[in-house]
Formats: sequence, C-alpha cells, structure tokens
Amino acid sequence: MFKKSTKRSPNRLNSPQCPRCGYDQSGIIESWTDRCPLEGRCAECGLDFAWAIVMDPSREELHWYSEHGSSLKASLLRTPKTIMMMLLPHRFWREVSVMTEVRLKALGCWIFVLLLLMHLVASIPVSIGAWMIGDRWLNGSFTQYLEIHGVMGVSRILFNGVFSEVAYLEFQNGGGLKLYLGDYYATGLSGAYLIPFGYGAMAFVWFIVLMVVPTTRRMAKLRAAHVVRAGLLSLLASGMIYEISRFAVGVVTSLDAYPLWTDLVGGLVFLLFAVWMLLFWGAAVRIGWRIRPSWLLIVLGSIASALGGIVMVLMPMHFI
Ligand SMILES: [Zn+2]
Repeated sequence: MFKKSTKRSPNRLNSPQCPRCGYDQSGIIESWTDRCPLEGRCAECGLDFAWAIVMDPSREELHWYSEHGSSLKASLLRTPKTIMMMLLPHRFWREVSVMTEVRLKALGCWIFVLLLLMHLVASIPVSIGAWMIGDRWLNGSFTQYLEIHGVMGVSRILFNGVFSEVAYLEFQNGGGLKLYLGDYYATGLSGAYLIPFGYGAMAFVWFIVLMVVPTTRRMAKLRAAHVVRAGLLSLLASGMIYEISRFAVGVVTSLDAYPLWTDLVGGLVFLLFAVWMLLFWGAAVRIGWRIRPSWLLIVLGSIASALGGIVMVLMPMHFI
C-alpha cells in the first residue's frame, strides 16, 4: 500500500497542499522550528492528515485500482477488481479517499480505452442483429451478399454495427457506398441512448452542486480534481451500462427474437443504476471526501442530481 513511486516531480514538495481542499500548507511548514509533527490539521477545511501524505501524495498507492496502474496495460489488468469495488460505493470510497493521489490523465486514458474496447466487442452482436432485421430481407443469404459485395460488403455491415444510431453506409444504385446520418436499422436502442445522457446529467449536476453553487460549495470545500475523478468514474459506469445494453440488444436481435420482458429487465437495470449513481456520489461525499456535516449536502445533491437526470431523459422524448 505504501509503495513508493520513483517518478515524482520535485516541485510537488515545494507546494504541499491539503489533500481535500488544496489549501497551501507551506506557511505552517515554515512555522516549524525545532521539530516536525507527524499529524496535522488543515486550517481551511479541518481535515486531519498525516504530513507524510501531504509531502508525497504518491505514498498512498492502491495496488488494485486502475487509476494507479503504472501503465495502460497495468490499468486494464486491474479493471475487474476496480469495477467490483465500484459496485460497492462505500467500500470503494473508503479506499479511494481524499488521501489517495488523483491521476486524472491515467484515469481518463484507461476509461477511454476500456469503453472503446467494450464498444467494439458489443458492435459484433449489433452488426449481426442489424443483418438479421435489415439486410437479410434485401439481400437473401449471407453467401449471396458476399458474392455480390465481397469484403466491402462485410466492412459495411461492421461499420454499421460500430456506428449504429449515429451513421450508416448504404449501397447506391451505381454500386458505391454512401454515408447517411441516423439510425437506419432501428436496432431497438433508439431511446436507450438517452439513458447515458441522463446519467451524465446526474454527474454534471453533482459537479455544479460541489464546485459552482456558492452555498453548497462552501459546505464541500473540495478540490476540483476529486469531483472530476468521481465524474470520470460516473462516465465509465454510464458508458459500460450503455455498451452492455447494446450487447444485449444485439444478441436478442441476432437470435431473431425480441421477447417483451427484455424491455422490463432493461428498464429495471437502468433504474437500479440510477440508484447506484446516487449512492456512489453520496458515499464519495461522506466516506471518500469526509465532508462534515454531510447529510444536508447529500440530500440536496441527490435531489438535484435525480431531477437533472429525469429532465435530461424526459425532455427529448417529449420534444422530438
Ligand atoms: Zn483542507
């Protein structure tokens, strides 16, 4: 746990900050004359900390957590454990507290690559499903399609799977491919793609509550990096839910079946995930960031966040 990292920038030691609120602690350090205490308290936010962590934040390195992976590969290998811990927000934030060093670049990189990989994997059943409900009726068997269009035809199906709901390629009378925008295949995800935006709005509202609104911002006294970390993790979770639903819809359409209960299960999963989002941010405020008192902030933030999510999902449904 206290593994020391070798690549630390020296200027980090020059401006020791409070791990939670970022308040510059160098004034206090300068006041030390004959001895150095081991424990300290931030004059700005009241956080109790060990001076060793303020001097070198990389001391608190988590061996299971993707953000602290030494390379992208190491971060990807830590994915199962990180996701499992995220499923239990109180446990996750007990470990990923304000004391653990924030490495937003590594976190962002890992999330981007992970979601990209998940997207490509989910695109396989989506492509097959699109063939089953679309091209099959126009082109007859896959062998016939392959004979006529060859590799170009296969690339087109895969492209339409990867970019489903955004754009698609269609053969023209002359034989060439043309790009269209929109959801040609109507793979059943239409509407579901609003859900991640809803979760995005939930996280965004939390950001506003903690960083922008003066009253709640004063309650939180938090460095932006902590909120961005929680935001990126929320983005990851929303993206994963989206890719898992793409995968599931792809499989169901590939099997040429669309039982009604799939909508019910999907709806339930989306609802449970919204509850998880509220728990995740609530646990971050109380356990991870140790904000005291926290309950008023959690209640206000959760209500605002839930409303933000609901408005984001419902508004386009009414106006489009
Ligand atoms: Zn502080």
